[in-house]
Amino acid sequence: MNEYRAALFDGPGLPLRLASFRNPELQPGEMLVRVTACTICGSDLHTLAGRRPAPAPSILGHEAVGILVTTGRRVTWSIMACCGECDRCRRGLEQKCERLFKYGHAAHGASPSGGLSELMVLRPGTTVLDVPEGLADEVVCPANCATATVAACFRVTGTIQGRSILVQGAGLLGLTAVAMATAGGAAEVHVVDPDAERRELARRFGATACHAGDPPAVDVAFEFSGRSAAMPALRIGGVWVLAGAVFAVPPVAIDPEAIVRGLWRIEGVHNYRPQDLEAALAFLAGPGRRFPFAELVPRTFALAEVNAALEYAATARPPRVMIRPQASSQEGHLPSQAQ
Ligand SMILES: [Zn+2]
Ligand SMILES: [Zn+2]
Repeated sequence: MNEYRAALFDGPGLPLRLASFRNPELQPGEMLVRVTACTICGSDLHTLAGRRPAPAPSILGHEAVGILVTTGRRVTWSIMACCGECDRCRRGLEQKCERLFKYGHAAHGASPSGGLSELMVLRPGTTVLDVPEGLADEVVCPANCATATVAACFRVTGTIQGRSILVQGAGLLGLTAVAMATAGGAAEVHVVDPDAERRELARRFGATACHAGDPPAVDVAFEFSGRSAAMPALRIGGVWVLAGAVFAVPPVAIDPEAIVRGLWRIEGVHNYRPQDLEAALAFLAGPGRRFPFAELVPRTFALAEVNAALEYAATARPPRVMIRPQASSQEGHLPSQAQ
């Protein structure tokens, strides 16, 4: 009988536990994927540290890429499945679907739903897209989380061409935004981050000026750190897009008169719509190819080494660390046999 292995989250502060399960039986509309790679997202680290509530046991990991078992196609998929029929789905708020299912954040049930597993089952209502040729796993894994979220941020800002941009926080989301702004023809791309190494990295993604302190006023500011203590200075008609505060943070003061007189907008972006995942892939396969995204994933670990990988991710704090649940999947191996 075929079994698959997965790393189970049992609760904050506990190591992940490797376990074997019988291969899932697919329900109508479901698809089975062999997970070839999964990067560790900041939200996974928040869950492990207890800053973000999560059911246990569960299989974490959502920035994954894999091979569809039926067709052999290499695919990425949306981090959520939505119904497409509820009021929110019909209003274009699919990420807040009333029947939303989020991969990597659900209690472990009859089928594996997180990326730290040799197999994953994709449910109906998931956007599944072929990965363009020639994109490394390191580049593709974050497409369905970080890259698509940044694509959603750019969708709400409107045109970037000729505008001055500020990126607050030069982690993976911030660096992706710097690259998208550069590729989109921004006049200036400012970055603010307290970490000198990350500021240096931002220059390699096209940042024109990096700041440890206060940046100048801009047309479009993106908040990815979640830790900005104040609203950034904006020009007339400016917009501040917030996407980083996905955990409890202190309130930030706003000046209502300045918002009124400045014709400013403040936008919140959480996750993304299916079209944003398409935009993310198009970016990575097109203008994004000239940026060093692969270097943001300095180390790769086997599934059995997942706790060492998490330790490394939490202490060395590279933008991403990658796990390879199916080490030989490119050759089309089936899941490992049970002992
Ligand atoms: Zn993520
Ligand atoms: Zn819905």
